[in-house]
Amino acid sequence: MTTEHQRELGAKTLLTVSDGNLRIGPERLFKNIPRDQSAPLLRPVDERGQALVPMRSLLIRAGNRLILFDTGLGHHSPIRPEDGTLLLELTSAGIRPEDVTDVIISHAHADHIGWATVEDEHGRRPTFPNARYWMSATEFRHWTQPEQLEAVAAVRTHLPVLSTSGQLELPDGEVEIAPGVRLLPTPGHTPGHRSVLIADGAQVALFTGDISHHPLHYEKPNWGSQFDTDSDLAYRTRLRVLQQAAADRILLVSYHHPTPFGHAIHNGAAFRWQPV
Ligand SMILES: [Zn+2]
Repeated sequence: MTTEHQRELGAKTLLTVSDGNLRIGPERLFKNIPRDQSAPLLRPVDERGQALVPMRSLLIRAGNRLILFDTGLGHHSPIRPEDGTLLLELTSAGIRPEDVTDVIISHAHADHIGWATVEDEHGRRPTFPNARYWMSATEFRHWTQPEQLEAVAAVRTHLPVLSTSGQLELPDGEVEIAPGVRLLPTPGHTPGHRSVLIADGAQVALFTGDISHHPLHYEKPNWGSQFDTDSDLAYRTRLRVLQQAAADRILLVSYHHPTPFGHAIHNGAAFRWQPV
């Protein structure tokens, strides 16, 4: 079956589930680029000229594992007042939280860890009670420094709960967590940012996390976003990943692009995003 939100990769099914949209102004999406250069190229935008930036988690079944990649923005947040739709979309897909065996966290920004934990009458707990949560140790250490915990509500809310739950796995480097599901370090956006390579036979897909926030980052790879921790490293990582993806015709799964599945196509010295 092929829909806008679903692809088959060998015996694996890739399904994207939405947590709604962010609205981000062009000057934040493209750091140091004058608005009159970037704004005319942005699509789709709202009535204030802000880009509508989806958040789409990826769900795959690999053997007896059900793996969720990133967890949206969650309940109402300073960034967006209304609740996200991720849990409702999982329910619509016939998935209960207890069915999920693994949660891969590409990085610990608010829009990727929002449903990592939930609060009920007993306090806060992991949303997915039977899952192992995978994050790089580098990422975890960075965001659990006292000054980060104090400054960033999302990490203060979720990371200590995950840490004490016994469900958090923190391997660094390149690691295969399930057959054909390999975590790859792609640092720069954050220190421990990761992408995920998914292979089934000869077919390969890559969940790119926040290598890009918009297809324009393919056309202008040096137009990094304000959200990159290390702009230069993020740029070099973006180029490296897109060069490899274009050369090998890897199916890309984007968290933030208007359409989730696509290819990186060489376009002069840069690339373009081709939805598929
Ligand atoms: Zn993001």
